[in-house]
Amino acid sequence: MKDMHVHLEYADYTFEWIDRFVAQAVKMDIDTLCLVEHSHQFTDFAPMYTGISQYSEFQNWWYYKKNFRQLKEYTDFITEARKREYPIRLLFGLEVCYFNGQEELIEKNIRAFDYDHIIGSVHWMDGFGFDLNRDAWQGLDVDTQYRRHFEIMEGLIECELFDVVGHPDSLKLFGHKPGYDLNPTYDRIASLMKKHDIAAEQNGGVHLKLPEIELGMAPDFLAAVKRHGVRIITSSDAHRPEHVGMNVKELVETL
Ligand SMILES: [Zn+2]
Ligand SMILES: [Zn+2]
Repeated sequence: MKDMHVHLEYADYTFEWIDRFVAQAVKMDIDTLCLVEHSHQFTDFAPMYTGISQYSEFQNWWYYKKNFRQLKEYTDFITEARKREYPIRLLFGLEVCYFNGQEELIEKNIRAFDYDHIIGSVHWMDGFGFDLNRDAWQGLDVDTQYRRHFEIMEGLIECELFDVVGHPDSLKLFGHKPGYDLNPTYDRIASLMKKHDIAAEQNGGVHLKLPEIELGMAPDFLAAVKRHGVRIITSSDAHRPEHVGMNVKELVETL
């Protein structure tokens, strides 16, 4: 089984830290583990985030509270980590926040190193970070947010910079459901994924945070992705070693 989306970000880059993730992967029957880091923690991506810190005081606080790193710190670490041996296949990549119009900066940063795997994720919609807290949704029209979310996702797919679309329907994480039928949207997104040869992610992160939300993509979305023959990858979206491989067996079973 593969767990293709795991974050190291809560500690310094050390071999001891990655060994804890690898040990848990072995325990959970994961044979391929991909460590990805969020683009938002690297100064190299900072110009993309101006709009999000201007959107609200909360987002400004959220963005600036972190310990920023430079991509070079991460890529130097990858270079050293790749020289070691592991009992499983260990890959290194990035989870990049996709913003319409920032393709040039994204391309420059991801082409500057030979990452194994690049996930493109919609986390922001015209400045709004939909997955940060439930209160931020107050006063927003859910249908409008859904339409915009998938519109932005089309740009993510069409720019062909990414290997996979991260958690493609994580917009549901606080339980918001649109008042219109999503099936035509699922079909359009799935056909675009196929056309541009990008994988869809069956990601357990939302379910891990809020167990009342279904595991992975909505069943109709998953069905559309399968119908179009899109590649599907599985991932826990773990941010701590003890969450590596969490729900991956169940995600594999959905395929
Ligand atoms: Zn994400
Ligand atoms: Zn993630």
